[in-house]
Amino acid sequence: AELYKIDGWGAPYFSVNAAGNIAVRPHGATTLPHQEIDLMKAVRKAVDQKPAGGLGLRLPLLVRFPDVLRHRLESLHAAFDLAVRSNGYGSRYQGVYPVKCNQDRYVVEDIVEAGAPFHFGLEAGSKPELLLAMSCLLRGSPEAFLICNGYKDVEYVELALTARALGLNAIVVLEQEEELLTVVEAGRRLGIRPVIGLRAKLRTKHAGHFGSTSGEKGKFGLTAAQILPVVRRLQRLEMLDCLQLLHFHIGSQIPTTALLADGVREAAQIYCELARLGAAMRVIDVGGGLGIDYDGTRSAGSDASVGYGLEEYAAAVVRTVRDACDRRRMRHPIICSESGRALVSHHSVLVFEAFSSSSCSAVAEPVPIGPDVAHLLEGLVDYRSLVAAAVRGEYETCLLYAEQLKRRCVERFKEGLLGLEHLAAVDGLCEVLAKENGHAEPVRAYHVNLSVFTSLPDFWAIGQLFPIAPIHRLDQRPGVSAVLQDLTCDSDGKVDRFIGGWSSLPVHELDGEDGGYFLGMFLGGAYQEALGGAHNLFAGPSVVRVEQSEGPHCFAVTRAVPGASCADVLRAMQHEPEVMFEGLKGRAGDFGGGGAAARRLARAFNSMPYLVRGGGGGERGGPAGGRGD
Ligand code: PLP
Repeated sequence: AELYKIDGWGAPYFSVNAAGNIAVRPHGATTLPHQEIDLMKAVRKAVDQKPAGGLGLRLPLLVRFPDVLRHRLESLHAAFDLAVRSNGYGSRYQGVYPVKCNQDRYVVEDIVEAGAPFHFGLEAGSKPELLLAMSCLLRGSPEAFLICNGYKDVEYVELALTARALGLNAIVVLEQEEELLTVVEAGRRLGIRPVIGLRAKLRTKHAGHFGSTSGEKGKFGLTAAQILPVVRRLQRLEMLDCLQLLHFHIGSQIPTTALLADGVREAAQIYCELARLGAAMRVIDVGGGLGIDYDGTRSAGSDASVGYGLEEYAAAVVRTVRDACDRRRMRHPIICSESGRALVSHHSVLVFEAFSSSSCSAVAEPVPIGPDVAHLLEGLVDYRSLVAAAVRGEYETCLLYAEQLKRRCVERFKEGLLGLEHLAAVDGLCEVLAKENGHAEPVRAYHVNLSVFTSLPDFWAIGQLFPIAPIHRLDQRPGVSAVLQDLTCDSDGKVDRFIGGWSSLPVHELDGEDGGYFLGMFLGGAYQEALGGAHNLFAGPSVVRVEQSEGPHCFAVTRAVPGASCADVLRAMQHEPEVMFEGLKGRAGDFGGGGAAARRLARAFNSMPYLVRGGGGGERGGPAGGRGD
């Protein structure tokens, strides 16, 4: 646990149990030891074949813990509740979940259900997000906010107004000046009076990667010069009572509460000014940005961590809004936040397998230098210098000559003067020398059954680090360091940077037995699922939902969905798997291969694109069907 810093980034949900496996505490620190879920047992249940009592799913596997999700939501609410009570705040907190962080139906439904007692709502940034938010909120509290952000056209605005007509508490947040006219006209046309929010473009800027949407040159929101005409126009239209909310978002992973308070102070002034100008202000929406600690350092120095927890965040927001409103003798508004990352990151673990390994160096085994190769090498001045330095015991000099020798040999190879045996022998010689000199780390490449592009898109795109650790054998000291190479035919498809500044991950030797070696990528519950692409047509993982329950293992798998099949991913690219299958089957018949070839083809269409360890693997129906829970 110490080596992988699990107590840092994992607390309070992940730890290591006596069996050396990752233990999941679904209710955080309040989980009793006998209620902890052994992640390895849950994975076995999901991937073991059906006759062995498993569900027969394939890896990679996304394990969702809805209890963790609920606990995050309750913790966020409790943190704000505490800040409201302990700071004499005159109103309340009423948050929303920005569905862009994870639009999965069950994630959103769980949040709406768990959040109903707190009137927790949803935020949408596009038409499909708005549709799903409207539908899910039908089962939420009628007071819950439905915050409508993002670029809007007439269709979007009409949909948001329709939400109001359905009794949902939808607020259309203007991100651009032009949107006002669309809202006013659509409201008139449909006979629905809108509730309007304004997104302010703050001067406060957050310097990290996630802050590029903030500051004067930020992508979204209205500047002071744009807010004033909107207010005047609403006044002329006698609609100032519709303007009720001020929103801002200075970016995700806000590093410090000092920066947060700075942004909230600026926004609170704008809020007070809008109230002074006659708007019926009642909500301040501080956006997202509540960060999480990916590397367990609780420091503000990088995007991988932040220097505060939920309580400090809530206290900074509540105190700053209170102080600003008290100075202006304004009533305290309802405080809304759109925390996504902090709500959903912890709830899922991506489990994947390392199925083989190789040396990262040019040579697997040093090639012995035979007499003919030695003869040729001895003719080279660098080789003679290298041997002389070795005899003198000057190992650093040796290494320099070795590098020169390598370069010169490659040149000679290109000219056709040396053969492959020479090149291999020189690589081996250099490797042995480097090892002798303590220069070469035994870094290996572990081949993992995963696509970085599909499952860790933020690692590939923006260098976001996620904690990765084996989920078992944590009672044994790892003997190797490895970079993780994925299945895609792409040199970017590897993980070679890890939390703690490591360029390789300590891992255990693959024991070669059929047990497998399982790793987990943690804290990836936000953004990764929708951002992930299908490079090489590797699509999403299998998914299980694991809930805490009574019983010997403390868990029950309450939902299991196999990952997309080859047919599914082909269909997504406009191919027609059924037609393809018939064509290929027909050709197999022409060539006399008939039934056996057709069965192999059907199996290929129906299986997941990921690899099957040991050459076996479950099968599913024909290309058109066979998917099930
Ligand atoms: N609200 C808005 C307007 C956003 O753009 C975002 C994401 O960037 C969020 C909320 C969620 O932010 P976070 O995941 O940092 O809580």
